[in-house]
Amino acid sequence: MAGERTVRLVERLRRVRGGDPWFDKRGLDTVRRRPVDDETIERRRRRQRYLGVAFVGLLVAAIWYPVLAGVGVVGCATAAVGVGAVRGRFYCNHLCPRGGLLDGYVRLFSRGKRTPDWFNHPLIRVVVAATAFGLLATGIRAAWRQGGSLGVPFLTMLAVSTLVAVGLGVVYHQRAWCQVCPAGTLSHAVHRIAEALGRDPAPRVEVDADACVDCGRCGTVCRQDINPGQYADREVTDHGDVFSWGGTEGATREADGVVDHGDCLQCSACVEECPTDALSFDAE
Ligand code: SF4
Ligand code: SF4
Repeated sequence: MAGERTVRLVERLRRVRGGDPWFDKRGLDTVRRRPVDDETIERRRRRQRYLGVAFVGLLVAAIWYPVLAGVGVVGCATAAVGVGAVRGRFYCNHLCPRGGLLDGYVRLFSRGKRTPDWFNHPLIRVVVAATAFGLLATGIRAAWRQGGSLGVPFLTMLAVSTLVAVGLGVVYHQRAWCQVCPAGTLSHAVHRIAEALGRDPAPRVEVDADACVDCGRCGTVCRQDINPGQYADREVTDHGDVFSWGGTEGATREADGVVDHGDCLQCSACVEECPTDALSFDAE
């Protein structure tokens, strides 16, 4: 039995390295619709793998030098929020080291299941963020009083949240944690506020309502469980939008052909997957 599992894992690794979808909730048995030798995608995949290795290296080094965890957490959170104001959750897909670990490696073990609709409800996101920041503040206060290393609470938070992220990544899909990650939530909220203050929105996916045949494939590859096709010209439910509370089911509204969901990672997976070329990036 163990031998069979090893063979299956090696097969998965081989196929992912060979260009199978880097994310697909239907598993790895589907064939990419577009050529796999797209250089941009390959570069991004490679960068994510390096970031994942760097993240694990930092975690291990922080066991001896906890200050590294403090620098890492503060640096990444600041970058996520700073980039968030201008580009939304671009950081989460392209630059986040833990995101690199999840996309680069955890996806190999992931069941690729959609999270329940309530999972990224704004209330849950607020509770997760408040718990993380509350525990961190308590830990820093205790370390300060006892004259201990201020890096230890950061290391503890990083290690615990990474364990949770990996667990969720295996049980659901590899980026499930990113739907409730406090840094991602802050990035999302800051971008919404910047937009309200008049800043241009981040690049967004546009849907051609005439070309969309409502097949739902785009939703199967979205790592934020967004259904881009629904934004053609139909009623949508923005599950997870931090300023769209609307009960456990989320608020519904009429969409106008733009996937203006604050959690979009701008990863292009849906654009690549659409069989009718109904999706495009407005920055392209
Ligand atoms: S994959 Fe394309 S055609 Fe299918 S639902 Fe999404 S946008 Fe529409
Ligand atoms: S680009 Fe498409 S697949 Fe990627 S997060 Fe945004 S909606 Fe989802």
